[in-house]
Amino acid sequence: MNTIRLAGTDLEISEIGLGGIPIIALPKNEAVSVVKHCFDLGITFFDTANMYQTSEEKIGTALAGVRDKVVIATKTAQRDAKETAAHIDLSLQQLKTDWIDIYQLHNVSNQEALQQALAPQGAYEAARKARDAGKIRYIGISSHSIPTALEALKTGLFQTLQFPFNFIENDPANELFPLARQQNVGIIGMKPLGGGLLERADLCFGFLQQHPDVVPIPGMRAKKEADEIIGLYANPKPLTETDLKDMENIRSVLGERFCHRCEYCMPCEQGVQIPSVLIFQAAAKRLSREGVTAWLGKAMESVEECLECGECEEKCPYNLPISDLLKENLALFKEYS
Ligand code: SF4
Ligand code: SF4
Repeated sequence: MNTIRLAGTDLEISEIGLGGIPIIALPKNEAVSVVKHCFDLGITFFDTANMYQTSEEKIGTALAGVRDKVVIATKTAQRDAKETAAHIDLSLQQLKTDWIDIYQLHNVSNQEALQQALAPQGAYEAARKARDAGKIRYIGISSHSIPTALEALKTGLFQTLQFPFNFIENDPANELFPLARQQNVGIIGMKPLGGGLLERADLCFGFLQQHPDVVPIPGMRAKKEADEIIGLYANPKPLTETDLKDMENIRSVLGERFCHRCEYCMPCEQGVQIPSVLIFQAAAKRLSREGVTAWLGKAMESVEECLECGECEEKCPYNLPISDLLKENLALFKEYS
């Protein structure tokens, strides 16, 4: 496994990391075994979050004996200082470590969230104090919104940026990553497999290998998945003409129905949680039934409030047929649960 130095930091990490969502669904011993397997195959970068339920605990258990050989990133979705400080201490405990390498403000995807996090007594202040105290090394941010992420980068306060990036969601290559590079901010690519919707790993990672300073963090919930993905890095193959055509076909089929979670459609006056509803199918592929219901149950119920007013569709830059997608996802959810 090749390593790279993550821009904005002095961290040397494997060229791909492990994303901590899918192991939520595994029993602890199995999850620990998958994480250890990834480490044995050369992965030294592990990303998780307070919000990912048991993920920190499982990663902490798996890596306790090799802590000084790995880089651990985690996140909080809290926006105020007190709650963030409590989350940092909880993460340290669950990860069984004295320090967190990268602490990220999680899903800062609109103006309000960014302002709250950066305000006095906000999450950033707690992260800065924790950095001063040696509990964390670098402060990062994760987002699904290009305008919000651009604004965050311009503050110069963050050393890393985590953003969705795959061959369907490739706008950041031109609209966001150039500024990150200019600001010397390390780029972490979440959702390299489209959150589970893209099934051709060879195409996904062939595309990502064209952007070697973006470190993808695929979630892997079985050793054979790890073997396949890590194998694509051990023997990288350039994309062929046929691959490019296949990507274009997938893009044109999925692109008309693929929610980028940018939240431009929000808020809905009826309280419909549009982006959460539209990730249902991807979530159902990666998590257990109980996990999906606990996470998205309320969002799915909110669809019943939709008046089909069409306001969200006017705001969606990808022209998604949101009303239809909401109904389809609700019907699938009812069948599934
Ligand atoms: S169509 Fe439904 S989800 Fe969209 S804004 Fe109107 S009520 Fe909200
Ligand atoms: S429905 Fe459209 S506007 Fe709303 S989050 Fe998805 S892509 Fe963005």
